[in-house]
Amino acid sequence: MSPRLEWRVATLAGSRTETATARTLLLDVPGWPGHVPGQHVDVRLTDEDGYSTERSYSLATPADGDRVELTIQRVKGGEVSEYLTDTFAVGDPVELRGPVGGWFVWHPSRTGPVLLVAGGAGIVPLMAMVRARRLARSRAPFRLIYSVRSPSDQFYAAELRRAVRDEGGLDITTVYTRSAPTGVPRPPRRIGAADLELYGWPPRFEPTCFVCGPTGFVEKVASTLVGLGHDPRRVRTERFGPTGD
Ligand SMILES: Cc1cc2nc3c(=O)[nH]c(=O)nc-3n(C[C@H](O)[C@H](O)[C@H](O)COP(=O)(O)OP(=O)(O)OC[C@H]3O[C@@H](n4cnc5c(N)ncnc54)[C@H](O)[C@@H]3O)c2cc1C
Repeated sequence: MSPRLEWRVATLAGSRTETATARTLLLDVPGWPGHVPGQHVDVRLTDEDGYSTERSYSLATPADGDRVELTIQRVKGGEVSEYLTDTFAVGDPVELRGPVGGWFVWHPSRTGPVLLVAGGAGIVPLMAMVRARRLARSRAPFRLIYSVRSPSDQFYAAELRRAVRDEGGLDITTVYTRSAPTGVPRPPRRIGAADLELYGWPPRFEPTCFVCGPTGFVEKVASTLVGLGHDPRRVRTERFGPTGD
């Protein structure tokens, strides 16, 4: 096994509340080798009886020494996400392995247009890309389409608002599936071809597209993008959660 993929003991240094059901974990991971935006880690929990279980979580921020941030959406009845959002306390350890993944990544040296399409917690690795763009003072044209159920489900809301205000070349559109804020003309509904055409890039601009979220969301968005004329080789996907979600 590559030495980069050894299990390391991380410690919770702090946390931020993102929504009523999501929490960002600030973890200190001594010896962390660094990572590229879009990659994820495996997290392993082991109880006193020796039973252990693993889940994958995307890295929410660009590499920053030994500090790693993850944002966890609590899944009702979920073995790992309920523990990490409700019980895991500052000073507690957790095992972590990574970084994992080499295809669903954006390198800040890339200058071409980028389309990011997030469904729910799928914003996490895409936020790492938005943050890396800012850190590198990149001018790569970015468009983010972020699909959420309602305004209160949006992660990183204040930071995204500031980013649109302060960072040239970054456009963000939030689309709502269940309830939209007053004054938003688009009625709540699932993301479709019209949204991707209106808020994304035309295929002739040859954007690299990153699509992340629940499996059903990713499959629908990716096939719609290809149907609109985007080259499938430029549509990169990351699926969270069970099939058909
Ligand atoms: C590459 C990758 C990166 C990921 N990154 C993130 C991330 O950044 N943030 C994040 O919150 N999650 C992320 N996930 C999802 C995460 O790995 C877990 O699947 C999720 O936290 C649920 O685990 P659990 O142990 O709480 O639920 P489980 O105990 O595994 O499942 C409980 C119940 O919920 C259902 N379920 C499982 N996962 C989901 C889901 N995602 N959505 C809806 N229902 C589900 C199961 O079918 C089951 O019925 C990622 C997944 C992958 C594959």
